[in-house]
Amino acid sequence: MSTSLFDLSGKRALITGSSQGIGNALAVGLSAAGAEIVVNGRDPDKLARAAAALRETGVTAHELAFDVTDHEGVRAAVDRFEAETGPIDILINNAGIQQRAPLEEFPADGFERLMQTNIAGVFHVGQACARHMIARGAGKIVNICSVQTALARPGIAPYTATKGAVANLTKGMATDWARHGLQINGLAPGYFATPLNQALVDDADFSAWLAKRTPAGRWGETHELVGAAIFLSSQASSFVNGTTLFVDGGMTACV
Ligand code: NAP
Repeated sequence: MSTSLFDLSGKRALITGSSQGIGNALAVGLSAAGAEIVVNGRDPDKLARAAAALRETGVTAHELAFDVTDHEGVRAAVDRFEAETGPIDILINNAGIQQRAPLEEFPADGFERLMQTNIAGVFHVGQACARHMIARGAGKIVNICSVQTALARPGIAPYTATKGAVANLTKGMATDWARHGLQINGLAPGYFATPLNQALVDDADFSAWLAKRTPAGRWGETHELVGAAIFLSSQASSFVNGTTLFVDGGMTACV
């Protein structure tokens, strides 16, 4: 079977929060499918290392540092990049944070930081990129959700609220922008070992619980998100809009 439906040659993908973890794995994966990569994060040193690692494999990689919570800063960075370098054809809204505490003790500033990063950031970067995509009549946006889009867990209620909102913002983006030739979908990872989850990775009891709770019986490996990301970033998903694809080893399929 031809793989051209999944070919990303000639496309340029901005992946927020791609200096490490899931975003970095998606940068590697999308570049292997042919895409040019724009790496993003707040720390320029981490970005430079991530971009250099991609370039060592022959990939064209650009660095675009911005904080997804800064509406004006995001707009300026995206507009400047489009003017000086060229179109962003694919946006993966991946940057996200986690904070754990019982809800009755959860600090208000932590709640606010989660809202600003995990949900407002998707709006800021999504809008900045979509304005250019709409003018071109084409574009792909993939919003990174979570199993917490569907299910809660003790100690992370605010994170759960943001990830539910990301899936609904995805529906809203599709509702407003699909008519302009854009496809906007969610990708919801299960549990993957990354720096975000270090506290859980280090907790043997949690890993034992996870192996029992997940039908696949294990943590996910970040490269296992790449296939779904390529599908949602490519011609193969040209009539898929507003949906959220769970890549979670079956976790949200069972109680
Ligand atoms: P991670 O390893 O902590 O990486 C987060 C990335 O986001 C880093 O590159 C970080 O770089 C960047 N970032 C954080 N805040 C930012 C901001 N305000 N502006 C720009 N960049 C920012 O996290 P991860 O585990 O890969 O998670 C990535 C996404 O997947 C998140 O949305 C997370 O909620 C979601 N997710 C993860 C899992 C999992 O099991 N790991 C499961 C479900 C969903 P700087 O600090 O340099 O800015």
